[in-house]
Amino acid sequence: MSDLTLDIANFHWVTQILDTMDSGLIVLDQNYKVCVWNSFMQSYSGVLSQDILGECLFEHFDDLPRTWLETKLKTSADLETRSFSSWENRPYLFKFNNFSPVSNSNNLMYQDIVITPLHSLSGVVSHIAIQVNDVSETARSRIHLRETNQHLSEISQKDGLTGLFNRAHWEQSLKEEFAHLKVIDKPSSLVIFDIDHFKKVNDSYGHHSGDEVIRRTSSILRKTARGSDICGRYGGEEFTVLLPNTSEEQAFQFAERLRKAIEGETVTLEQCSINYTISIGVCQCKPHFESHTQWLKCADAALYRAKENGRNQTWFHEVE
Ligand code: GH3
Ligand code: MG
Ligand code: MG
Repeated sequence: MSDLTLDIANFHWVTQILDTMDSGLIVLDQNYKVCVWNSFMQSYSGVLSQDILGECLFEHFDDLPRTWLETKLKTSADLETRSFSSWENRPYLFKFNNFSPVSNSNNLMYQDIVITPLHSLSGVVSHIAIQVNDVSETARSRIHLRETNQHLSEISQKDGLTGLFNRAHWEQSLKEEFAHLKVIDKPSSLVIFDIDHFKKVNDSYGHHSGDEVIRRTSSILRKTARGSDICGRYGGEEFTVLLPNTSEEQAFQFAERLRKAIEGETVTLEQCSINYTISIGVCQCKPHFESHTQWLKCADAALYRAKENGRNQTWFHEVE
């Protein structure tokens, strides 16, 4: 076999590899003219190689991120090194659809891109190869996993009945705010409240009605609080609110608005209408507090005074 026959034979099977590989392969010259356009690129783009060979890539695909790709190609050629782009930074280079057996639908193809400078026989970079790898399955399962983890982390912070923060998460927020207040001089207040004679609600109308009263209380609380306030369900029918950047007097006004809103509310159910009240304790964080639990205890002591004094009222924590 002559050398020429060998070269043609080599070329023949190299071409077959390029055409059967499960990635896109494009080779461009220095003017971005297409020199190789394999079968993968033909099938997903719908552009046949005879229609694009010798043509400028950007003229055929005007939705390509031209500035980004040109910079990447130039850098790779100048530095004579390969470069990569992950789907996590740029979901795709070519807007291709592919079929997903999982969702049984056509979706955009996520792509990892590899750019390789190619040297001519004289040793200079004359061309550049772009490899387009379909990573849709990995990307989709990674995205699904991330969303699931995000969802799990959100529900692990929430109380199931009201959607407010649960005790563990709320207490963690209180701890963080307390630590923050040690380094920053600003007022911050805590409000704790408890439904009055709630046992009677359960006993007279049933647990289900009691649950509805708790749910309604949380919805009034949400409407009364500001976005920056951190509202939690501390226990059964006991709620806590952390009010950052809020003085005791401002927190007291908030508490009174909440108390009056609840006093004026009627929970109407199939068999009954329920009116109810709450008692509230308010406490601003004091410089001498040694821990967030001390702050909470003082707010709780104020709540106890409100109960003791006849309920349906708001009390400050009094310094002993
Ligand atoms: P007080 O005015 O002194 O607060 O009286 P109270 O009857 O509200 O007293 P207490 O705090 O002891 O009672 C709370 C009741 O709340 C007892 C418990 O059965 C009920 N409870 C706790 N969690 C839930 C809940 O998720 N749903 C319902 N329906 N009831 C609950
Ligand atoms: Mg109660
Ligand atoms: Mg209680």
